[in-house]
Amino acid sequence: MTVFLMPAPRLVIVVPCYNEEEVFSQCLQALSKLLDTMVQNHLVLQDSFLLFVDDGSQDSTWEQIKAACAYKNHVQGIKLSRNEGHQSALLAGLIAAAPQADAVVSIDADLQDDIHAIRRMVDAYRAGYDVAYGVRECRQTDSWFKRTSAEGFYRLMAIMGVKQVFNHADFRLLSRRALDNLLGYTERNAYIRGLVPLVGFPSIEIGYARGIRTAGESKYPLCKMLALAVKGITSMTITPLRLIAALGLFICLLSLVAALYVLVRTFTGNTVEGWSSIMLSIYFMSGVQMLSLGIIGEYIGKIYLETKRRPRFHVESLLGRDHPAADQFLP
Ligand code: UDP
Ligand code: MG
Repeated sequence: MTVFLMPAPRLVIVVPCYNEEEVFSQCLQALSKLLDTMVQNHLVLQDSFLLFVDDGSQDSTWEQIKAACAYKNHVQGIKLSRNEGHQSALLAGLIAAAPQADAVVSIDADLQDDIHAIRRMVDAYRAGYDVAYGVRECRQTDSWFKRTSAEGFYRLMAIMGVKQVFNHADFRLLSRRALDNLLGYTERNAYIRGLVPLVGFPSIEIGYARGIRTAGESKYPLCKMLALAVKGITSMTITPLRLIAALGLFICLLSLVAALYVLVRTFTGNTVEGWSSIMLSIYFMSGVQMLSLGIIGEYIGKIYLETKRRPRFHVESLLGRDHPAADQFLP
C-alpha cells in the first residue's frame, strides 16, 4: 500500500487549444468527468479546475471555452491574442495556474494522451514526487514518419547532451515547487520538455499508450515539428557550435596527412608546378578558419547562455529556515 506523504492537491489541468472546435466538447466532458471522480475519491481538492488556453484559434474554440466558463465553475479560460505556438500557449497556462495550484497537469486537447494516467500522476505526487512524466510506451497510432522522426529527434538530443525523457512530450504533472522553479527560467525561447529535467526534484515516469486524435487534424504539421526541433536544439545546447571547432581541428589534422601525400607526389615529380602549395594552403587554411569559427562560437555560446539568465541551482531542502539566507533560496 502506498503511503501518501502529501495531502490531496488543488489540481489544475492546463490544456492548450489551437483550432480544436471539433474535439473541445469531448475534451471538456472527459476531463470534467475525470476531475469529478477524483474529487469524489478525495484524490484532489474540490476547487481543482481545468484551464483552457486558446492559442489564437480562428475557429469557434474560444466561444466554446467562454461558454464552458460561464456554465461550469471548474473551468477557466485564457485567450492569447494570436497564435504563438504550443510551447508559448502551455507556458501561459502554467504561469496562470501557478498561484492557484498545488499541482499542475498539462495535456493536449485531442485526448491522444491517456487521461487516466492523470490519476497515477496524482498518486505519484502524493507519494512525494514533484514531477511525473507521461511517457508514451506505445505509439503505434502515430504515423511511421511521425514516430520515427520523433524518436530520432530524442536520440539526437541525447547525443548532444540534452537531458530529455525519451518519448515524453508535454503530458506531465508538476508540483507547485517544481513549477515555481521552472518559471524561474525566464528565457524567451522556452523548450519546456528540456527545461523540466534541469529543474530536478524527485521525478517518476508514468507509462501510457498513446491513442489516436479524437477528431480534427494534427496542429503540428512538418514545418512546426521542424521549428520545435530547431528550438529544442538551439535553446538547450551549444553543441553544434562546438562541432564546428571539432571539425576545424579534424581538417587541420587531415591537412598534415595531405601534406605528406602532396610532398611525396612533389618529390616523385608527379605534379604540375604550383599544385603542392595551393593544395597545402587550401587544406590547412580551411581547417584553421573552421577552428577559428569554432573558437568564436564557443564565446558566442557563452554569451548566449549568459543572456538566458537561467537559475544556477534549485534548492530542494533547506534546514534551519531562520538562517538569514533562507529567503534568497526559496522561490
Ligand atoms: N497547439 C497549440 N498551438 C499550436 C499548435 C498546437 O496550442 O500552434 C495545441 C493543440 O491544440 C493540442 C496540442 O497543442 O492541444 C498538441 O497539438 P497536436 O495534438 O495537434 O499535436 P500532435 O499530437 O499531432 O503532435
Ligand atoms: Mg495530438
